Amino acid sequence: KKFVYSFKEGKADMRSLLGGKGANLAEMVHIGLPVPMGFTVTTEACLNYYEEGEKISDEILEQIFKALDELEKENGKKLGDPQNPLLVSVRSGAAISMPGMMDTILNLGLNDESVKGLASVTANERFAYDSYRRFIQMFGNVVLGIEHDKFEAKIDSVKAKRNVTQDTELTAADWQEVIKLYKELVKEETGKDFPQDPKEQLLMAVEAVFKSWNNQRAKVYRRINKIPDTLGTAVNVQTMVFGNKGDDSGTGVAFTRNPSTGEKKVYGEFLMNAQGEDVVAGIRTPKNIAELENVMPEVYEQFAGVCKLLENHYRDMQDIEFTIENGKLFMLQTRNGKRTAQAAVKIAVDMVKEGLITKEEAILRVSPDQVVSLLHRRIDPAAKVEVIAKGLPASPGAGSGHVIFDPDEAEELGNQGQKVILVRTETTPDDIHGIVMAQGVLTSRGGMTSHAAVVARGMGKPAVCGCDAIKIDPEKEEFQVGNLTVKKGDMISIDGATGQVILGDVPMIDPVLSDEFKELLGWADEVRRLSVRANADTPNDARVAREFGAEGIGLCRTEHMFMAVDRLPVVQEMIMSDTKEEREKALEKLLPFQQEDFEGILEAMEGLPVTIRLLDPPLHEFLPNAEELITEIAELKAAGNTDELEKKQSMLKKVRSLHEFNPMLGLRGCRLGILYPEIYAMQVRAIFKAACKLTKRGLKVEPEVEIPLVGHENELKIMRDLVEETAAAVLKEEGVKLDYKIGTMIEIPRACVTAGEIAKHADFFSFGTNDLTQTTFGFSRDDAEAKFLPHYINEKILIDDPFIVLDRNGVGSLMKMAVKSGREVKNDLMVGICGEHGGEPSSVEFCHMIGLNYVSCSPYRVPVARLAAAQAQL
Ligand code: ADP
Ligand code: MG
Ligand code: MG
Repeated sequence: KKFVYSFKEGKADMRSLLGGKGANLAEMVHIGLPVPMGFTVTTEACLNYYEEGEKISDEILEQIFKALDELEKENGKKLGDPQNPLLVSVRSGAAISMPGMMDTILNLGLNDESVKGLASVTANERFAYDSYRRFIQMFGNVVLGIEHDKFEAKIDSVKAKRNVTQDTELTAADWQEVIKLYKELVKEETGKDFPQDPKEQLLMAVEAVFKSWNNQRAKVYRRINKIPDTLGTAVNVQTMVFGNKGDDSGTGVAFTRNPSTGEKKVYGEFLMNAQGEDVVAGIRTPKNIAELENVMPEVYEQFAGVCKLLENHYRDMQDIEFTIENGKLFMLQTRNGKRTAQAAVKIAVDMVKEGLITKEEAILRVSPDQVVSLLHRRIDPAAKVEVIAKGLPASPGAGSGHVIFDPDEAEELGNQGQKVILVRTETTPDDIHGIVMAQGVLTSRGGMTSHAAVVARGMGKPAVCGCDAIKIDPEKEEFQVGNLTVKKGDMISIDGATGQVILGDVPMIDPVLSDEFKELLGWADEVRRLSVRANADTPNDARVAREFGAEGIGLCRTEHMFMAVDRLPVVQEMIMSDTKEEREKALEKLLPFQQEDFEGILEAMEGLPVTIRLLDPPLHEFLPNAEELITEIAELKAAGNTDELEKKQSMLKKVRSLHEFNPMLGLRGCRLGILYPEIYAMQVRAIFKAACKLTKRGLKVEPEVEIPLVGHENELKIMRDLVEETAAAVLKEEGVKLDYKIGTMIEIPRACVTAGEIAKHADFFSFGTNDLTQTTFGFSRDDAEAKFLPHYINEKILIDDPFIVLDRNGVGSLMKMAVKSGREVKNDLMVGICGEHGGEPSSVEFCHMIGLNYVSCSPYRVPVARLAAAQAQL
């Protein structure tokens, strides 16, 4: 078996065998770039090393020595030659780039004899002894495991003796003394002399690379990044070139384009008269790559040419390492460069215009997850900030405001135009009004799918959740973090993309869809088959959604309209009613509010479909909770306020009568509409009055009335009759003709199983995958998140959180079944998804695969979904 490849034999596509570094070095040789010659010991040799019980087999040894032999011939130099020695570097390189693997060893092949040869052929004693001591230090650290600081201490002792402070002030003789001390240190630490035989040095180094595949750092990195342990690492042995030979030598790193902005301009740093790690070590300040043009114009020109060649060859931005030896350029590494979202977008679009890649490739180059960061307000990256704690990055974006602990107060101050950050242990549906008016939410408990996180993401507001470093004292209205006390009214900022909590105000920058991003999304629109809608409850959300390219509203929740301060009392009056007549009177008062809301949304989405869901949550969510009422009642009793007391007492009675053991599975959704048809009738009237009014103004509206939580066809049949009757009455009254649809949420397993029956009464289905996931798994989302889901994920019982990434095998199978049997009954049945999964790339892909018509997600996720839908098609 072939375990060793010369650089001349490899290719870029042999990455899994040669590792990324080795494959790309070979590729550069292949296209004629100046690369110091060398060979790669394969990843299979590494695996073999472990199979043989941590031993390099004779077969592999033989191949290594044969490759070395050829390398020596090519260079006309021999490893360890006392006259003119060949020196090599030993570099690790796995198929997937992995920090935590072994560090590079430079100058291998030096010993007490060959160092003299190096000194005489270069006519530079100081350089030769400096190289030797660097080698002992790197080898001693990386292969023999001696701490770096122990070597540095030796240099310091010599410097002190000479009374100098800089390495550059040390002479050849000083370095010889350092070498003597280094060798003593090695003997002390390992009990053995520093290996003088270069072949032994080489094998020890190769073995150390193999061993580093299983060091703790590498193992942890692989576990976190889901990289298989079975890949192994390759080892590259490469002829040394020297950037530290004098003022016409140097070394540097560069990106062919700016990795943070994407600007088409070589970006990087270099140092003259320096070797390898000096650039990143931070001992000397490197110079901007542009200056190389002044220092060495010809080399610069050649370098710029190489950058261009590499980009054209790889058709992607490259991250390059190079060295200049006596005015001659050598390439030491190239790879596709890491970049920010902004740069990814710009580079992809620019490269299409340059004719380097196709539009389809450009679409595939940008990760939908990554662009999320471009769609929110964020902290000016140039700002200096004081981070006081870190929680979960629960909802991206950034916000600043005064700390407020009480949602009512948050709402009140928000209404006055003040900026507040709502700080809670956890949030509940009762806090929504406060969240709406806050700049962001900070909670000390709860995870990525906690109430606060879900609600904030839906609203496009920043949230940092589960920040357990902050200890909230609701009585004193302050929180502690370490020794710091933050009081109500103090200014803080949160960054929901990183989870940072920052003291004080910070400068923000607005999200702008750059021209390039708009262009890329335009290309995505040409490609994708899935249409993209938004979940929006207010005219303002609707406008944002439209700006981001939403093609309709897939879910407008009416209950949020019930929560507003000026409406809640009327809603409560409606709930408190004992008779249908009383209830209808209260509903009559609510109607104008609802109508106004619907007018706003339908107008903002003029010409596009809007799905409006009738009331869904259990009624008790609109009433105060029992404990609060009991306290209030006690206070009122003490004060002797009888009128108020009676009111509160009857409210408490109602709250108690509405109590359910499991409200999520209780009287809610269409069950409400069936028991209290007058509630749904009012909502339908409001929808159609709004629609008629706009139609009369000459606007085109497309309302779609949606019935939630249907599990049996009879439920939908009854509700459909109610909607049709009520709509017909309004249309007749108003004398308007209007097309509309009636459909249902599919969010109960039974609805999926009997979708054929339900489809008879539906013009559309919309998968409510939040509830469908809860009911399919039998998980209550909030409880799962608080109690056992994190454990499930840690233990890999579940690979992904099913509330974030759609569960294809379970929930997904039910969806597939529903689509199939629904369309068997109605072949043009429109089917979409409106759960949070509608904005998550892998879930969007699944929706594409099972033939949905659209996905609907939060307005800020619309561009993500457009991109993901296009990628699903490609
Ligand atoms: P990393 O993966 O940490 O970047 P490398 O194997 O790329 O490690 O080595 C780091 C640096 O060492 C290179 O950027 C280069 O400057 C220097 N280096 C490695 N091999 C050689 C060589 N053959 N000649 C000169 N310098 C080298
Ligand atoms: Mg490198
Ligand atoms: Mg639901």
